Amino acid sequence: MIKRMASKFHLRNHGDTASSSSASATSSAYTQSTLSHETRLSISTERTSLHEWVKHQSEQQHPAVPAAAEEPATVQVRRTMGAYRLSDFIIQRTLGTGSFGRVHLVRSKHNLRFYAIKVLSKDRIVRMKQETHTRNEQMMLKAVQHPFIINLWGAFQDTANLYMVMDFVPGGELFTLLRRSNRFPDPVAKFYAAEVALALNYLHSQDIIYRDLKPENILLNFDGHIKIADFGFAKYCNTTVWTLCGTPDYLAPEIIGNARYNKSMLSGLPPFHEPDISPVVLYEKIAQGPSCVKWPAFHPNATDLILKFMERDPSKRFGNMLHGAGDVFAHPWFAEVDWKKLLNREITAPYLPKIASDGDASAFERYPEENAASQYGQMTPDPYGDRFPDFDYTSS
Ligand code: ATP
Ligand code: MG
Repeated sequence: MIKRMASKFHLRNHGDTASSSSASATSSAYTQSTLSHETRLSISTERTSLHEWVKHQSEQQHPAVPAAAEEPATVQVRRTMGAYRLSDFIIQRTLGTGSFGRVHLVRSKHNLRFYAIKVLSKDRIVRMKQETHTRNEQMMLKAVQHPFIINLWGAFQDTANLYMVMDFVPGGELFTLLRRSNRFPDPVAKFYAAEVALALNYLHSQDIIYRDLKPENILLNFDGHIKIADFGFAKYCNTTVWTLCGTPDYLAPEIIGNARYNKSMLSGLPPFHEPDISPVVLYEKIAQGPSCVKWPAFHPNATDLILKFMERDPSKRFGNMLHGAGDVFAHPWFAEVDWKKLLNREITAPYLPKIASDGDASAFERYPEENAASQYGQMTPDPYGDRFPDFDYTSS
């Protein structure tokens, strides 16, 4: 049975040490032991600044990606964001918890629609040296617009927290569906992989690297199509970067090896995963490459494609060669995929989430509420008032 990854992490080899417990790993549903907490050794290693990225975007006269047959995404690089404050919403249950806060289902007092709000503690972000990542998260989400990527409506802050208002994606995590299904039949895996490929190709065409792809961050919309959430490690990158971040099972060997990397990073399943494996052993296996993987009975074309993604030399890795993502789209495993129809959501999804009504969050696991919502919106001293200028400052 696949386990939920403890959480994403961010690590460099010469920083402060901090640890945080991962509520996501506490569910009693997980009978196998898992990483119960994560260690973060954080240091900002950003080489390409936000400033550079904004300049890059405003220099783009034609923001749409080239209309190649297989990548006809409609792109609008800059979107105007709404102005919101906490008192616009009624906070309901928790949908998920992360390393710096939690995501709530909320209802707008104005249009009565349901949204998801990610709440992040400024104090925790600063203490864990995640300011740049948090600013990137908001900025990358604001910049992207794609059918398979979560939609951000606005971002604001009060004295204690940052808030990001997103569409509520009601179908739950792909992780939950995968765990319930044990594993997906070949055509089902192909459907989700193909939608992920389109979303990643779109991000890469915008020079954005995502860096935390895992089933926990792939949500299912009401119609069963995917929405990629959690841009906590997304970053503008048109050259190379070297921050060691992501989730252990899904790290590429060059990231573990402290090398520079770029947008060629693309992986899905955790082939090196073993219960209770220590990170050191896990990283050794990833560095060793696919030869140590015991292959389940995948379709030979699927195995072939995965092996091509697991190529240790990034310059020979599928998706990062002369034809870029075109190699992926043209691979025999995807032979029957009509990419244009898929992008237009004209292919029926293999699983239709059961949603009883608007705001039905039963597809999400239950998390202890811990009275979190009652703590929001209180006036506290704010030593970090000027650190997150892209989040509108509100009083209540
Ligand atoms: P982690 O550090 O564990 O990766 P995080 O702090 O970055 O998490 P997210 O991954 O953004 O937080 O959100 C945590 C969980 O909340 C998601 O896995 C998902 O279950 C839920 N979630 C996030 N955004 C939405 C949304 N827009 N609609 C519904 N659920 C959501
Ligand atoms: Mg996440």
